Amino acid sequence: MRLILLGAPGAGKGTQAEMLIKLYDIPCISTGNIFREHISNNTDLGKQAKAFMDEGKLVPDSLVIELVKSRITQDDCKNGMIFDGFPRTIPQAEALDATLADLNIPIDYVVNVEVPDELIVERMAGRTVCPSCGASYHKVSKKEKLAGTCDLCNSKLVQRDDDKEETVKRRLEIYHAQTEPLIAHYKLQGKVLDIDGVGTVDEVRARVKQALGVN
Ligand SMILES: [Zn+2]
Repeated sequence: MRLILLGAPGAGKGTQAEMLIKLYDIPCISTGNIFREHISNNTDLGKQAKAFMDEGKLVPDSLVIELVKSRITQDDCKNGMIFDGFPRTIPQAEALDATLADLNIPIDYVVNVEVPDELIVERMAGRTVCPSCGASYHKVSKKEKLAGTCDLCNSKLVQRDDDKEETVKRRLEIYHAQTEPLIAHYKLQGKVLDIDGVGTVDEVRARVKQALGVN
């Protein structure tokens, strides 16, 4: 089974990816991990990628695709794979399509987890963490006993920069502008499974399985 997982940041893709990894015994392919592996092994591709990163530049798509190709031709991808966080743009999707066509392993489905922006902002912006012990809280689903104070160690709770409302909204804007067009791209190929991502983790998991025809 070869899958692409799409959904806005904060839509709960990671949790569904974990389920799909076990269900199909396939690895999750993330470009971040591929980059790190090549850079730490000091491969030619890794050196090229690092040169761009050291200059604060984006790694060009042609190189990203080479790195992805090196990963998906490894043994553990024989049952398939799940792409999470890649492709992010139409040019990347087109390059991936062409590479998979060359290898004769086309994508089976694109799982598109849909959650309204307002709910994502509420989920993310409600989170706080304890800087001392790492405990996490949420103003709706896991409230601390004394406002702003860690239940476990009494430290003052903080909001991570990534969870701040402005940051979440900016990431959502980028998602809508760059990545959402991929849904239309793959709909033309008849591969998109739209999943309602509102509800508990179990509810969403059940919908994903149903869409894939798994009990
Ligand atoms: Zn604490």
